Amino acid sequence: MQKGNINVTAQNIFPIIKKFLYSDQEIFLRELVSNAVDATTKIKTLASIGEFKGELGDLFVEIKIDKSAKTLSISDRGVGMTPEEIEKYINEVAFSGAEDFVNKYKDQAADKGIIGHFGLGFYSAFMVAKKVEIFTKSFQDGDTGSHWTCEGNPEFTLESHERDSRGTDIVLHLSDDAMEYLEDHRIRQLLNKYCKFLPVPIHFGTKEITEKNEKDEETKSVVPDVINNPSPAWTKTPTDLKDEDYKNFYRELYPMTFEEPLFHIHLNVDYPFDLTGILYFPRIKPNMDVRQNKIQLYQNQVFVTDSLEGIVPDFLTLLHGVIDSKDIPLNVSRSYLQSDAQVKKISGHITKKVSDKLEELFRQDREDFSKKWEDIKVLIEYGMLSDDKFFERAKKYALLKDTDGKYHTIDEMRALLEDQHTDKDGNLVVLYAADAEAQHSYIRKAREKGYHVIILNTPLTPHFIQKLETALDKITFTRVDSAPVEQLIVKKDDELNSALSEEQKETLKTSVEGIVEAKRFSVSIENLSENEDPVIITMPEFMRRMKEMEATGGGGFFGMANLPETYNLIWNANHPLTKKVVDEADETTRSEMIRNANDLAMLSQNLLRGEALESFIKRSFDKL
Ligand code: ADP
Ligand code: MG
Repeated sequence: MQKGNINVTAQNIFPIIKKFLYSDQEIFLRELVSNAVDATTKIKTLASIGEFKGELGDLFVEIKIDKSAKTLSISDRGVGMTPEEIEKYINEVAFSGAEDFVNKYKDQAADKGIIGHFGLGFYSAFMVAKKVEIFTKSFQDGDTGSHWTCEGNPEFTLESHERDSRGTDIVLHLSDDAMEYLEDHRIRQLLNKYCKFLPVPIHFGTKEITEKNEKDEETKSVVPDVINNPSPAWTKTPTDLKDEDYKNFYRELYPMTFEEPLFHIHLNVDYPFDLTGILYFPRIKPNMDVRQNKIQLYQNQVFVTDSLEGIVPDFLTLLHGVIDSKDIPLNVSRSYLQSDAQVKKISGHITKKVSDKLEELFRQDREDFSKKWEDIKVLIEYGMLSDDKFFERAKKYALLKDTDGKYHTIDEMRALLEDQHTDKDGNLVVLYAADAEAQHSYIRKAREKGYHVIILNTPLTPHFIQKLETALDKITFTRVDSAPVEQLIVKKDDELNSALSEEQKETLKTSVEGIVEAKRFSVSIENLSENEDPVIITMPEFMRRMKEMEATGGGGFFGMANLPETYNLIWNANHPLTKKVVDEADETTRSEMIRNANDLAMLSQNLLRGEALESFIKRSFDKL
């Protein structure tokens, strides 16, 4: 038997491993199972190139719990290790990795992100075990088997150990504070999280299955329970997969989700970086509580994380699916990731692929694309807002829905509006509404004037139109209720005639101001068409947009949200009722007429509330 000291310069590294890694303790299982899978893949490769000529046998990895011995073991029939290899890979190399880790990151222990992602490998076993044993026999001729033990200190023993079968058993004698790993459900949960798509079958426990024999009788048998799907869809060639296969894989990824994805994108790159994966577009409803962290990141089919911030642009974290890449460095902090050139390239590539797919769908089947639009528009608006390259590409297929339910691209919209909607300064004024019900009368008036109105109703709308106005030439967006219809698109400077004299207007204005809440309403008397309502309430576009942008965060208009909402209260100088009010000699009657007309205008905008509403209703009843 050989005894020795594990090659370390740091005094005793084990307590440090324990302390640093405690928060992500559970990754030990991922590391040990990955090693077993690696060893299995190696023997397969050696067999395929003729360097291993023996029996491969049934290749799988098995995890076993022994409750009475308080051990957890991971076994494989892979390449195994000779004593020299144990010396090299376990006693020296692997350990120097751990040492590097500690030296490099001891000041950043708080940055939990790095801990789980650092492939501490074999030595992570000491996070949960007070003693670790390796029983192994190499595939190489002449090896008879070895037994290595280490009790969580720099001393190890290595002795020969007769063993029939090729491969490795790692036996963990669990520490008192790691007894949870003796529980079936806990191990199953971890295997499901980290090992669900590993490329070699993973056995854990057994299950009973019922089969029919030749005589058509049902027979029950007990078979190993296979945890994983060794060849998940993303590892296959897109041409070998049907739409149904992609849907099935979605269900495999999210067994608890019943909604079907809208469409998928199969990523498949090997140069200049390695990237495979499948991304799915889920339905994203405006105002829906969007669920991020649905994309899972794998490295060679080993689950790494489902928090992809920094790896893909924010707006793409709304997608679902899987990304698998060897080229994303995982042993570094998030802030480093964001500046890493390789990660930037990968992120740029994913964005481009997503955009290509959207454009393809738009070009190939516009009708179907329009049908899906409501479910994807939040993501596209978000992307257009946050990524200029994406904006440039998406502006070709981003759709605007009008009040008749027709969809137009931005260019089509421009062409359609050109004649009717160009104002005196040559700007194209796009009229929009957020809510077809609430803004019904404004929409009707605009439509009657021959205008088109589009519906923009996501939480991102104010930011989105601001972006369109800055990025596109000579275009402005105006909500239908931000001014009386004849003032929405100002075409000529010449005004309508007025039925009232300047003096009459002034007197009326003073009377109205004496009646409404001065803080909320700014009163004006304007020359509108006599078909327009006598009293109209509007909120100026600028004001509302700033307030909305404040409410959804960002925009930098400090303090706007605290401003009281102020409206324009406009009396139409040319409406017959206005004339009647002005001509009314009795002071009390005139005030009452003004009050009622104001209240009706407020009522139409859902602005009449509380005592004012009650009083209005009482007065109206009294008059019946
Ligand atoms: P890594 O997997 O990143 O190389 P590890 O610390 O996980 O680092 O493992 C160190 C080395 O020990 C491996 O590269 C491999 O050579 C050897 N090893 C670990 N587990 C096994 C195993 N089950 N079978 C064969 N060799 C193994
Ligand atoms: Mg490893």
